[in-house]
Amino acid sequence: MANAPALSIERIAHPAPVSDADRKAAIADPGFGTVFTDHMISIDYDEGHDGPLGGWHSATLGPRGPISLDPAASVLHYAQEIFEGMKAYKLSDGTMALFRPGENAARFNRSAARLAMPALPEDLFVESVKQVVLADKEWFPGVEGGSIYIRPFMFANEHFLGVRPAKKYKFLVILSPAGNYFKSGAPAVSVWVSEYTRAAPGGTGDAKCGGNYAASLVPTGEAFAKGHDQVVFLDAAEHKWVEELGGMNLFFVFDDGTMITPPLRGTILPGITRESIITLGREQGLDVREEMYSIDQWRDDAASGKLVETFACGTAAVVTAVGKVAGRDGEFTIGTGGPGQMTSSIREKLVGIQRGTIEDTHGWVTRL
Ligand code: PMP
Repeated sequence: MANAPALSIERIAHPAPVSDADRKAAIADPGFGTVFTDHMISIDYDEGHDGPLGGWHSATLGPRGPISLDPAASVLHYAQEIFEGMKAYKLSDGTMALFRPGENAARFNRSAARLAMPALPEDLFVESVKQVVLADKEWFPGVEGGSIYIRPFMFANEHFLGVRPAKKYKFLVILSPAGNYFKSGAPAVSVWVSEYTRAAPGGTGDAKCGGNYAASLVPTGEAFAKGHDQVVFLDAAEHKWVEELGGMNLFFVFDDGTMITPPLRGTILPGITRESIITLGREQGLDVREEMYSIDQWRDDAASGKLVETFACGTAAVVTAVGKVAGRDGEFTIGTGGPGQMTSSIREKLVGIQRGTIEDTHGWVTRL
């Protein structure tokens, strides 16, 4: 990010920040997604506004709090909403850092394009994230594996009821101190292969829009009710090819050192963790293929021992072993049912880069 964004972010003093004691209590064991920090970034977009960044204006870093919406705000009716999920880490020397924030900014704008929403300049996205994280750095949890989860999002707030792209939007960034994503901090998760479809060809599967997640709640609820940790989605057309989990991408590891991950055909989210693992794997000399892999093959290869590991990856849970797979046709175990060697070594490498204990040769880490 060479130049400062064309829009400066105005600071609004917080009238009543959370007290030191309350903040310390809140971050002692934050879990995931329930504790929020004191500040937020807010930037408005009006199609008619003519400023240095076109329609974007009124960028503020101020107290986090409720926002008012007209009941006819179009997000409430037609779901023009997109978001990102990223983390601020603490490096081993105590500096806070982001991991590939430019990739989140770029994906945000690809999502915006698919949902007929305006692009936000990438440098403004990254600057917003940096500023709010620095404002709330005292909220960093001291727990093992802790981070500050960052949620940038944008929604349509023009009030009208015609079905067309809105002319007004709001971009916000809020922060949530986080511990481990899986409640049990589970060494290996159990997954349920859903009969529901997450994304169809030509749909919004590769955009990070709220609607995709609304549609995944019933299948995920079903997985939980059956005692599993996550849901696996198959492709919509043939209900045969493994696509991804509700919130993570998948990798399959074979006994000859090959790794397969499903290709980006428009129906899965292009995970930044996924892309980083492909890069690291290939650099290590592994044969990493982006290839379709069927549920039947998955079962057969697990049974024959050809498939030795499966892991899920994403910002929230980093790298997590999949130990058991269950579905309509019964269940099977992968390897020993616990995390395998490759899963552990990839996790260590990624976490090491993110925490600054392994050299960042790719320029992935942005110090704050
Ligand atoms: N798939 C889905 C559906 C997701 O929600 C996420 C989390 N953003 C991922 C994959 C993993 O993406 P990333 O590695 O960028 O967090």
